[in-house]
This record gives sequence, C-alpha cells and structure tokens, in this order.
Amino acid sequence: MAERMRSGSQPATDMTGEDFRKYGYQVVDWIANYLDHVGEMPVLSQIAPGDIKRHQPDHAPDRGESMDELLADVDRIILPGVTHWNHPSFFGYFAISGSVPGILGEMLAAAFNVNAMMWRTSPAATELEEVTLAWLRRMIGLPEDFGGVIYDTASISSLVAIAAARDAVPGLRVREEGLAAPVDLAMTGSKSLSSHAALAQGAPRLRLYCSEHAHSSVDKAAITLGLGQAGIRKIPADPEFRMDPLLLERAIGEDRENGWLPFCVVATVGTTSTTSIDPVQQIADVCEREKLWLHVDAAYGGSAAVVPEMRWVLDGAGRADSVVLNPHKWMFVPVDLSVLFCRRIEVIGRAFTLMPEYLRAPGADEVVNFMDYGPQLGRRFRAIKLWFVLRYYGVEGLANRIRNHIHLAKDFAAWVDASSDFERMAPTPLSTVCFRSRPDDLGPQSRAYQYSPGDCECYLDLLNEALMANVNKAGKLFLSHTKLNGKYTLRLAIGNIRTTRSHVERAWNLIRSEAGRIDKQLRPATLR
Ligand code: PLP
Repeated sequence: MAERMRSGSQPATDMTGEDFRKYGYQVVDWIANYLDHVGEMPVLSQIAPGDIKRHQPDHAPDRGESMDELLADVDRIILPGVTHWNHPSFFGYFAISGSVPGILGEMLAAAFNVNAMMWRTSPAATELEEVTLAWLRRMIGLPEDFGGVIYDTASISSLVAIAAARDAVPGLRVREEGLAAPVDLAMTGSKSLSSHAALAQGAPRLRLYCSEHAHSSVDKAAITLGLGQAGIRKIPADPEFRMDPLLLERAIGEDRENGWLPFCVVATVGTTSTTSIDPVQQIADVCEREKLWLHVDAAYGGSAAVVPEMRWVLDGAGRADSVVLNPHKWMFVPVDLSVLFCRRIEVIGRAFTLMPEYLRAPGADEVVNFMDYGPQLGRRFRAIKLWFVLRYYGVEGLANRIRNHIHLAKDFAAWVDASSDFERMAPTPLSTVCFRSRPDDLGPQSRAYQYSPGDCECYLDLLNEALMANVNKAGKLFLSHTKLNGKYTLRLAIGNIRTTRSHVERAWNLIRSEAGRIDKQLRPATLR
C-alpha cells in the first residue's frame, strides 16, 4: 500500500478492498441479524427529541475514525432512534417494507453510483427503467401506450403530472410566458371573459379538482406550481369516502361560468385515510366531456391490481392521462421509488426538456434521456432495486403476498365487526382497516348516547386518542389515525412483507385489552 494519509490508518484514496470486504460482510451480517430480530424491538422509537443530537459533537471529526467505532455507534446511538418500519407490527400510515432483494438492489445502486440523467451516462440504468416499467405496466393492466418514469416519491410524480396537465392546456403558454401571461381564450374554451378582459386581468386562473380525501401532495403540487390553494377545488365525497362525480361535473360548470379555467382532475385509488377508491370510470367520462387531464393517484392502492381478482381497482385508469403508483409503498421495494405512467409521455418531455450546451451529446436524440421528464437533472439508479424485487418474487409471488395482506385486513375488519365494543369507520376494500373503540354501553342506542351524543363523541375521541398513544408507547405495535366525519379513527394498515396472521391477531388482542383498561380509567362519571 503506497500512500497513507496518516501513519498506518487510511490510504490516501478510498478504503481498501480488503477492509471493504471485512466491513461489508460485517454490515450484511448486521442487516441480516437486524431483520431477523426487528420484531423484538420497540416499533416506535422511544427516545426523546434531541437525544441523537446530544450524542454528536458540534463539528465533524478532523481526522478519520475507524469503521469499528462507527459501526459501534450505529448500535449505541442510531438504532434506539430508529422507528422500525421493517417491524412486522408496523401498522401505521401505509406500512412498507425494505425486502431483502430490494436491499441488495439498493446496495448495488450505491456501489455503481451512476447518475442516470442521460442514456449515455449509464445505459443500463435508463434501459432497465424502461424494461421494469413496461413489466409493471403489464402487471397492473395499463394499456401499452403508457410510458413510465421513476421518481423518488408520489408527491413528485403528481407534481410532474400536474405540471404536464398545465402544459397541455391549449393556448396557455406557461412554460414560455409564466402564469400571468396573456392567453388565447378561444383556445382554452373559457366562456365568461372576453379576450380583452382576459388580457387586462392576465390569464384565467387554473382550477384543479380532487376529492376532499385526496392526499396533501396534491395541495403541495398546486402550491409549488403557482396555482395556489385557491386553485384546488375539493369535491365532497359520498358516504363511502369516494369522490362524487356528479358534484365534480357541477363544480366544473360553475367554475367555467365564473371565469376559472378547469384543467385537471386527480382521482385517488386508495385514499390515505380510508383507502376508498374513487369511481375512476365515471370521473374519466367527465374528464373526456370537459377535456380535462385525468391524473390517478394510485400510490398505495395501485399495487393491489397485481392480484388478478383485484385488477378492478384500476378500472378506468387506462383512460387516464397519468397514473402514479409507489412500489415503495406496497410492492416491497425500499423507499424511495415512485412510478409515473403517462399516456402521452411526450407532454411531460415538452414541459421539462431543456438542452444546455454542456449536456449535448452525439446521438442523444435517438435514445431516452430521463432528465427530460422532470425538474431534476441527476437521478439515482432506482430501477435496479425494482428489477431485483420483480425478478426475485415474480408476479405471482408479489400477488400472493399482497392478497394475503388483503385477507388479513378482512379478518381484522371481521373481528372489529363482531365486537360490540368496537366499530368500523369505513369500508375495507384493500389492506387498511379504519375503526375505533366504542364500548357497548356508549353505542348509539345506549342511554348515555341518547341523552348526550356530543359528550359521548367527545369522550370516544379522547378514548381512542389515549388508546393509540398507549399502544404506540408500549412499542409492541404501531398504529396511526385519521378523522372521519369528525370522529377520531384508528387505522391499521397491513403492508409489511414480514407481517403474518399472528402479528395481526396479537395486535387485535392488545388493542382490545388496552381499550378496556383505558376506558375504566378515563371514563367520566357522567357517562357511566
Ligand atoms: N398519495 C397517496 C394516496 C398517499 O397515501 C401518499 C402517502 O401516503 C402519497 C400520495 C404521497 O406519497 P410519497 O410519500 O411517495 O410522496
């Protein structure tokens, strides 16, 4: 070994291959051990805010430290501060998994460390992205004319889709002129303003539609794209939390009369609170009549379409302009990997392509350069972890696992339904159950409820909030919540590859016993 930075320690370049092997094997062993035992750790990190920072010096070390020290600190400092999304009893938000093939793919992506901005900056990254997304498109039954692009998150996929929708509005030259530019109203189909008035006032304001249950990433996209929060109109949902297409159509008509320029509808397949599935076919009818871009947010629910008998969840999505699905949610690919499918992928290209001189390359026009399909230039080699997962489990293997999660959720929902002390708060079309503790003697027919429904509801909110806090604090499982019709609602989301029936049974038993215990402690005398 020639050059050393300081006596006997690190070489002047990178770690030696010999040391890499030593520590690499050690890290793989560590990961294998961690995954074998993650179920014994508290799901939710038990540390207090600031605990990790307290263990760190104010400055980075002047001289390199040993790998042994570093790895020891992973156990000592980092591990206690991790909330274990890999835990089989992680049931919060949407449970996810870093499956082992995905972890191995991620390791290779880090090792190659390519920047997949253009075909030539790593042909394998670009072509594997094209191949894996074509496979995925067929797995979920989208038509062949949909092209795909990988982004980090659904938030960015939806942002790009909505930017493309804006770019597709005829007569609106936002890319060239910005949002306040004069617009050719005859082309946009806007009814109420004369061209003269429109010029005086700037372009008509764009309006996007989604259900009141759409994910907040749609709001963030509207904020980022300059539509403003006023540029979103939330359409009320039906009693099963699905967008009402009649109200959608009425809202679009009203807005046109009032000088807005409707341009895009976001339908959701698997809403975040309840996993409700918007009626995409009927929404597509409205979009076709009104000539609006239809974006389908299937970030979570789209994975269910891999299961043949669940294919229906994406009914109508083939008529959309764009569809987002997150393999990092419910397809066992480690975070982050979101896929945007777009029927006219060239519209995204038109919205974002720019070719500065320093990126010009011979033959670049004949290949796909994914930098042309979004705001960012640099891109990770994400497709390789998707490729590993798709090949290792196969379509059937993935379908079996997803189907099993749906069955487990149906079982949990049935236990809730059969209990007189609990109630289900929403239908369970996929693998997430919305429910709450509602002791039998506080049911709608009870004397307490008849006498004072307001006090009862208030107490039930408190009870469920305390139930969730206690269960999560104990660290045996992790739940999250939402509010449905103003009522505090617990969510049990099944999606981790390591979750089995026994984890779900244990969760139910624990939730039931804790609910009884907390009710005894918490219930005010007036409701006894
Ligand atoms: N869309 C839906 C329906 C979601 O549930 C979520 C997150 O849970 C998102 C979008 C945002 O996902 P991401 O974290 O990939 O941005």
